[in-house]
Amino acid sequence: MSECLFCKIANGEIPAKLTFDDDRVTAFEDINPQAPVHIVIIPNKHIPTILDLSHEDQELVGYMHMVANQIAIEKSLAENGFRLVTNCKKSAGQTVFHLHIHLLGGRDFLWPPG
Ligand code: AMP
Ligand code: ZN
Repeated sequence: MSECLFCKIANGEIPAKLTFDDDRVTAFEDINPQAPVHIVIIPNKHIPTILDLSHEDQELVGYMHMVANQIAIEKSLAENGFRLVTNCKKSAGQTVFHLHIHLLGGRDFLWPPG
């Protein structure tokens, strides 16, 4: 059994507030939200970081973005917009080493992002 937190959320071993799940992707509310809407979108397959993508993952990564769009529309973020973030390793502050996209919305964000 995987020791990875997000693998455990994807397979239901650890509960989360799911907003979407199918055989390829799971999305859930971040436990420490940084915006009024903060959803984490993960592949069900364990991929540690964006650097670990293989050619066969190209469609999966595109699909994760389609899921992000769908959730953003459902959460009424399409008109004002939203931010998608993927942190990669230490300098970006990645803390969970299972690839994920943060979907952040419901407020204005600064750029550059600190
Ligand atoms: P990152 O720092 O980019 O690796 O993002 C990891 C995110 O996972 C953080 O925003 C955490 O708040 C979030 N997180 C950690 N544990 C959980 C959990 N059990 N359920 C939901 N979100 C979590
Ligand atoms: Zn994992």
